[in-house]
Amino acid sequence: MPIDELFALYPLAFVCTALLLGLVVGSFLNVLIWRLPKMLERDWRQQAHDVLGLPAERPLPTYNLMLPHSECPHCAHRIRAWENIPLFSYLALRGRCSACASPISKRYPLTELACGLLSAFIAWHFGFGWQAGLLIFLSWALLAMSLIDIEHQLLPDVLVLPLLWLGLIVNSFGLFVPLHDALWGAVAGYMALWSVFWLFKLLTGKDGMGHGDFKLLALFGAWGGWQILPLTILLSSLVGAIIGVIVLRLRAQETSTPIPFGPYLAIAGWIALLWGGQITDFYWQFVGLK
Ligand SMILES: [Zn+2]
Repeated sequence: MPIDELFALYPLAFVCTALLLGLVVGSFLNVLIWRLPKMLERDWRQQAHDVLGLPAERPLPTYNLMLPHSECPHCAHRIRAWENIPLFSYLALRGRCSACASPISKRYPLTELACGLLSAFIAWHFGFGWQAGLLIFLSWALLAMSLIDIEHQLLPDVLVLPLLWLGLIVNSFGLFVPLHDALWGAVAGYMALWSVFWLFKLLTGKDGMGHGDFKLLALFGAWGGWQILPLTILLSSLVGAIIGVIVLRLRAQETSTPIPFGPYLAIAGWIALLWGGQITDFYWQFVGLK
């Protein structure tokens, strides 16, 4: 039986497949989230070095998404294949390195679990098809971007820009919205936050947000059309306020670590992509205009 007929007959099989695939990809995202910022930093250092015309540095050892192999940060024990199975290995090892028994950070199994659950949820929400497949892929990227932004206050162009283009490409087939709406969504998304940035800068002389945020909102415009932008901005302030209060409560004293805007925007845009139509319809009914 072809795979599409199988998934059409047994939707649960698709949800389970998405869950397992999401767990495996989550394991890869852990590597990406950890290594990509370091790779970018090396690259920028090298470029700055070249621009300033400094004498060549000692060549650095190879560092990319594949090499060197993963190892325990405490004892340099090389992680073996069976110790690298998503979730299962963490549980089997009871959260400790098999060689030196140092605790393994909970962020790894939690990222895998989040990735698995997001994928399963989209599979269940949309059913088997292009829409589900592409939104699962987008969710993986958004998860990686958000976690990198939280840790490094950085939304890497190498992740945001290809996904922005992908939104325009999938909508050239009218998969989510007509291409016209997607194109103006990307433009309006970028311009909206770009204007806020400059207004804030002219008034206060400070940078209120990163340029990555403009591109991230442009990404959502490209995927969901200009129509989802007002809701995305509204929801991101709401999500930001809620999480901001929780974080302030959790932190004993106030710290100066900035809370990046990217993750709020990512959560808000994701919600607007999935339920934007229903939320705005509900709103218009609520205020009695429909
Ligand atoms: Zn160890």
